[in-house]
Amino acid sequence: MTPKIDRFLAEQQPATPCLVVDVDRVAERYHALQDALPLAHIYYAVKANPARAILERLVTLGSCFDAASIGEIRMCVAAGASADRISFGNTVKKVSAIREARELGVDLYAFDSMEELEKIAAHAPGARVYCRLAVENQGADWPLSRKFGTTIEHGRVLMLRARELGMDPYGLSFHVGSQQTDTAAYEAAIARVAMLHTDLARAGIEIRMVNLGGGFPVRYTSDVPEIDAFGMAISQAMTRHFGNDLPLMLVEPGRFLVGDAGVVSTEVVLVSRRGGKQSDPRWVYLDIGRFSGLAETEGEAIRYDFRTPRDGDACGPTIMAGPSCDGVDIMYEKRRVGLPVTLESGDRIEILSTGAYVSTYCSTGFNGFPPLTEYYI
Ligand SMILES: *Cc1c(COP(=O)(O)O)cnc(C)c1O
Repeated sequence: MTPKIDRFLAEQQPATPCLVVDVDRVAERYHALQDALPLAHIYYAVKANPARAILERLVTLGSCFDAASIGEIRMCVAAGASADRISFGNTVKKVSAIREARELGVDLYAFDSMEELEKIAAHAPGARVYCRLAVENQGADWPLSRKFGTTIEHGRVLMLRARELGMDPYGLSFHVGSQQTDTAAYEAAIARVAMLHTDLARAGIEIRMVNLGGGFPVRYTSDVPEIDAFGMAISQAMTRHFGNDLPLMLVEPGRFLVGDAGVVSTEVVLVSRRGGKQSDPRWVYLDIGRFSGLAETEGEAIRYDFRTPRDGDACGPTIMAGPSCDGVDIMYEKRRVGLPVTLESGDRIEILSTGAYVSTYCSTGFNGFPPLTEYYI
């Protein structure tokens, strides 16, 4: 919670649920990452929060952008990003999207399979391409490993084929999983990339770029390592494996840049012990849930922190649920949340560090609940 958000909520008392994002905080995080990894080029992962105000601020800071769809590419262009600062980072792209991206001037494309490579070659001939490798996602609260990335062996085949197809076999990428709290995950992934780099050099392909993906964590309910610790681990691993011949480094932060810049303001709709006994579990229903933005509570993976007007009172274990009539609309049940026992309906609660992966996970109106209102200040 930044002082600016605190003041906005106190003065405006906006209707709940709503998301308030302090765009200056995004800029602070951008500079912190730049300081931690001065040689890396920052490609903001647009999917974390594609709000116009964020994209425009990042354009003025000189950021580049990692887009997952043609829609995100259009948003970047509309916010003032030039096409040479956009990477089409999804390894699963429609032909129509590749064509339009190419027309707009985008020249950097990810792939992890033969068919995708051939699609890019056919519709963005001669473009720079990079191959995504599968890496361990251990240490990440929100893994991304099963759906993307290929092996070193097949990556070699694909990069050689890229050259045959007249593409520029520009680099290699990975993603260690989102909310990654272990710096060793990057070190292991860099070692893997370096192995393929060596194989490819023997075959006459010099890769010039390593895309380290995103994953840098935000503090929710537990402390996480500082960004400098990640910067140090990455820089050392890159030097160890590549020596003085460092390829260009790209990073694709999403959560790290916007996560702790946002706060959701919500209202308690109901506090109940449905069996009627004091020993029954206490349920707190908020006016926001799994379908109105808090999708990352799936599996109780991301554990948000709450601020209530009754902090300081005695706390008790609480099951947190959303307002809809859907039975899976429960945020935290297996691991209960300690919240003041004095909470009652009508209380306003702030959910901290909700700037990433909340606004766009919101349904368009499931159960008649309107989409989340957003304020960028
Ligand atoms: C989602 C995603 C990111 C951003 O990940 P964070 O964990 O939010 O930093 C970066 N790169 C790719 C390819 C992604 O899919």
